[in-house]
Amino acid sequence: MSIWFNGEIVEDNLATASVLSHGLHYGTSVFEGIRLYQGKIFRLEEHSVRLKNSAELLGFEIPYSVAEINDAIERLIQHQQLLDGYIRPVAWLGHESLALNAPGNKVHLAIAAWDWPELFDAEKRHQGITMTLSPVIRNHPKAVPVAAKAGGNYLNSCLAMQQARKAGFDEALLTDYEGYVAEATGANIFFVKNGALITPEPDRFLNGITRQTVIELARTLGLDVIARRISVHELADFEHAFLTGTAYGVLPVSQIDNLNYQPSEITAAVIKHYRNLCLA
Ligand code: PMP
Repeated sequence: MSIWFNGEIVEDNLATASVLSHGLHYGTSVFEGIRLYQGKIFRLEEHSVRLKNSAELLGFEIPYSVAEINDAIERLIQHQQLLDGYIRPVAWLGHESLALNAPGNKVHLAIAAWDWPELFDAEKRHQGITMTLSPVIRNHPKAVPVAAKAGGNYLNSCLAMQQARKAGFDEALLTDYEGYVAEATGANIFFVKNGALITPEPDRFLNGITRQTVIELARTLGLDVIARRISVHELADFEHAFLTGTAYGVLPVSQIDNLNYQPSEITAAVIKHYRNLCLA
């Protein structure tokens, strides 16, 4: 595999970082997940802008412009001759100091891209995945910048996912610091009720690019979309649920613990139109 590494495309054995990297020790890294559908990169500009903003929220600057990052990604895709894939840029603080304030640490940027395997089989993608309400909560917005897609923000996602899988579920549903429904480990959540979409207000977790795309798309389909606080007690009142994210696309949810959701025509319509948009 080739990697775009600090400005050059090299073989992956040459794209190496120090074991004393600040990013490795303290999670001072930022990353993106981007999809390539039939040779077209979905929402590249938005992802590159978010990457730069995530770094700024952590107090460091990626030494490449958005245009340069877009260019690097395009160049790597060409080089790898990928058609359908996943692209992972990651920027991190280097090894110059392990002091917490990272005085003068160099900022590195690497980009990898690979063929994309579907994460769930066709039946699950159609019928829906299972989720469990996690005892692990989302980060408090005063503890970390929740709008940053930062390595250090993902520890609770990793733990919640490990626990959910051990308990036999596909995904975990995390609540915020006040106990309201927030999101999955790496995807946003929507609910269907009375012909409308209801989704948590995105001020306490990452407001995903897929989430924003789905809201626009749903409104063009004439659906009402309401973003508000959602109590866990309401989960039983919803007719259906689905997740949105770069990795999952739009993914139906068939179960949250002992609550079962029936297939929904609204979810099916959102999935179809989202897919068309990705391939457009
Ligand atoms: N929340 C979290 C915690 C995520 O990791 C992701 C994946 N980036 C999302 C939501 C969905 O974001 P997007 O639609 O931009 O992929």
